[in-house]
Amino acid sequence: MIDTFRHQGLRRKLVETIKSKGIKNENVLDAIGKVPRHLFMDNAFVEFAYKDNAFPIAAGQTISQPYTVAYQTELLQVQKGEKILEVGTGSGYQACVLHEMGARVFTIERQAELFKKTKAFLPQIGYNLKMFFGDGYAGLPTFAPFNKIIVTAGAPEIPKALIEQLKVGGIMVIPVNHINFDGIQVMTTVTKIDEQNIEIKEWDSFRFVPLLQNKNY
Ligand code: SAH
Repeated sequence: MIDTFRHQGLRRKLVETIKSKGIKNENVLDAIGKVPRHLFMDNAFVEFAYKDNAFPIAAGQTISQPYTVAYQTELLQVQKGEKILEVGTGSGYQACVLHEMGARVFTIERQAELFKKTKAFLPQIGYNLKMFFGDGYAGLPTFAPFNKIIVTAGAPEIPKALIEQLKVGGIMVIPVNHINFDGIQVMTTVTKIDEQNIEIKEWDSFRFVPLLQNKNY
């Protein structure tokens, strides 16, 4: 797999763009600077890999906009060695950004075609992550609890199972459907204060593909 000086140069520019949009965490910016995004995209779009945009991948899904990836990752406050669950593997790009930050990543995807493709692809470019096929709405109970949870699809609500699978002190970052605007989500953080209490905060608005429940095929 080829990562040329040109790709690396474009990646540095992308990092500058994301920085200018307000991302400050140096570890997040470094990770975006490391993951070769052009390898995650279908051939037709390789030229656009380092533009700060979302793009179509297999099965009608999208690879998130780099700014959105950085925004969610910054809110997660990732520390080295943390166990992180990602719901919505998609291309695997977000998962690799977390891996580059030293996290132990567990990622789950419900779309069979995409799951198979990404599971075969990531090891080819040197990323060996724990990938699961299933309904991430239910989390990954066998491997819980997690220090952090990141959902990369638009959720109708905050799934209870995911709150349960968060460690005390842990943070979940999840885009939750806006009450008044169809197809728009409010980025939301859920911090687990103790076994009974959570703190919910709302941030900026984004647009994600939907998080589907009870539909893995
Ligand atoms: N993180 C991805 C973005 C993926 S788009 C990336 O970096 O490329 C969101 C993904 O969530 C899609 O692949 C979609 O199939 C998946 N998804 C939707 N509902 C899901 C569910 N209940 N469980 C697991 N994955 C789900």
